[in-house]
Amino acid sequence: MDKTTLEQKFTEIFGTAAQGTFFSPGRINLIGEHTDYNGGNVFPCAISLGTYGAAAKRSDSKLRFYSANFADLGILEANLNDLKYVKEDNWTNYAKGMIHFIKEAGYDVNCGLDIYVDGNIPNGSGLSSSASLELLIGVIVEKLFALDIDRVDLVKIGMKTENEFIGVNSGIMDQFAVGMGQENRAILLDTNTLNYDLVPLDLKDNVIVIMNTNKRRELADSKYNERRSECETALAELQAKLDIQSLGQLDAETFDEYCYLIADENRLKRARHAVLENQRTLRAQKLLQEGKLEEFGHLVNASHVSLEHDYEVTGKELDTLAHTAWKQPGVLGARMTGAGFGGCGIALVQKNQVEAFTQNVGKVYEETIGYAPSFYIAEIADGTKML
Ligand code: ADP
Ligand code: MG
Repeated sequence: MDKTTLEQKFTEIFGTAAQGTFFSPGRINLIGEHTDYNGGNVFPCAISLGTYGAAAKRSDSKLRFYSANFADLGILEANLNDLKYVKEDNWTNYAKGMIHFIKEAGYDVNCGLDIYVDGNIPNGSGLSSSASLELLIGVIVEKLFALDIDRVDLVKIGMKTENEFIGVNSGIMDQFAVGMGQENRAILLDTNTLNYDLVPLDLKDNVIVIMNTNKRRELADSKYNERRSECETALAELQAKLDIQSLGQLDAETFDEYCYLIADENRLKRARHAVLENQRTLRAQKLLQEGKLEEFGHLVNASHVSLEHDYEVTGKELDTLAHTAWKQPGVLGARMTGAGFGGCGIALVQKNQVEAFTQNVGKVYEETIGYAPSFYIAEIADGTKML
């Protein structure tokens, strides 16, 4: 969507002129899944699917929000001086949370806003439309009030909104990828230290195909919290002999040596995933830097296997997509991406095989699951910005 269209749509809804237009990407994670709350590394990138926005300041303290994706809700109002979570306020809670925590951090937001939002990320499909929306609102507020907020601080405010305002217990990966992404680069992020490296992503003759199961993933689902607490317990068991603060600090050898301390088979599998997935992620960075795409693809496959059998967060839909993708010509690797339990997978596919790929995988999926998946080509995009 271009600037002019956004400005026109803003004026159609609010009757005044927009003072700025914005874009905030979604994200995929190449590898390093369920490692972000285990103090490990993740390797996401921002994508060209995302959330557009247009906004203008008001002369009073009203906040008025409109999303083309929730057009039936019309304009939803709030007040700058009364920013609380209210269930009925629906999606605008993300916006209210961001503004609330920006104010709480000491920034001077001194008048209300009209905000128009229009996104093309399928909501709830694991491409992080919520983080995209959070950072969009954050950058709108930053730019229109000339606040000059450090980007990593804004990322943290996004996570705080998700955790404390919305009540979803997710790690920092999504907001970091959305806020810090760069065109044609993937972000290797150490979630323990927040040290990061923007790694050039040269896929040669290949593209990343996003495969949407079209099954709604429920992140706030009890299973996600269950995995978190299984890992916490496993960590506590290991801490009986090891001086570590997170599973992400362990290499494979040390884990092997001390895993006898974990007294339950499920917890052993969860911890094994957290440790080995982190190691895979570090190797993946090296392989990409050396241009070894084939080996990188094998790690991507191994990640899925581990998420399927050790972490057990895939399910029939994601497994069908990955297993079918592995059998197609021109596929370097495929796995689930995001939290799992539905949502999306990704596949690294030779450009000239993409059409056959989507046809074949689509057919098998529909025969097996009973409805069709969707496919998108992911361009690797910049983080949230003013247009
Ligand atoms: P995910 O982040 O994986 O897409 P979530 O359930 O975390 O799924 O977030 C989806 C929610 O984010 C939506 O239900 C809505 O409240 C909000 N949201 C995302 N994109 C938009 C948008 N374009 N307009 C309004 N709300 C949005
Ligand atoms: Mg989300």
